[in-house]
Amino acid sequence: MVHARILIVEDEPQLRGLLRLYLERAGYAVTDAGDGTAALAAFAADGADLVVLDLMLPGMQGEAVLEALREAADVPILITSAKRSDAERIAGLRLGADDYLAKPFNPHELTARVAAILRRSRPAAAEGTEAMISLAAGRLVLDPSSRRYTLSGGEGGRLTPGESALLVALARRPGAVLAREQLLEAVARRPGEVYERVVDVHVANLRRKLGDDATDPWLIETIPSTGYRLVADRDPS
Ligand code: CA
Repeated sequence: MVHARILIVEDEPQLRGLLRLYLERAGYAVTDAGDGTAALAAFAADGADLVVLDLMLPGMQGEAVLEALREAADVPILITSAKRSDAERIAGLRLGADDYLAKPFNPHELTARVAAILRRSRPAAAEGTEAMISLAAGRLVLDPSSRRYTLSGGEGGRLTPGESALLVALARRPGAVLAREQLLEAVARRPGEVYERVVDVHVANLRRKLGDDATDPWLIETIPSTGYRLVADRDPS
């Protein structure tokens, strides 16, 4: 079995060593970096299956590292930060992070989150190959195993693990309204973690990426004070 490769970006040496220890014990191949420049160099040289990124770094800030990683690849990113407010968490997710862990955290919690993100970023390996999904009468085709999508105009790209999981959850229940807490489960949050704006952020990112319009959607419809549903394909009647 090939071990998933984790890149840890953390400037505090003790914490960096501790995270490395826990992740290696969990069976991952770990590389680490103490600042953003070293992190980007390590990623360019070797890549990674997931990046654990501290936001408060000397020199290049974590947010800039995140943007640079996002431009280079769609690698899943887990932010760790002492910034604790909801606004700061949401800002990190909006930049394209997949999850956010506030410091201080239990290293077991970190390994659990890493496993969850990797599970949903590689559903084909974990759950067997999922079929391609066609949405909005073929306007969007998504391959959940690679998270690649194609729009009917020919444009395409790749969704983040969270975006893909959310869209797959909506597609499994066509026409049904899914509440934010149901969709949270779909993006592999722990039950009990009330963090529903994560869903809104993923939906906003999906809309931006796929060119869906919140006020006149072709794909995802907002159900006020409840959640979301897929726009129903027109019935041939
Ligand atoms: Ca730091």
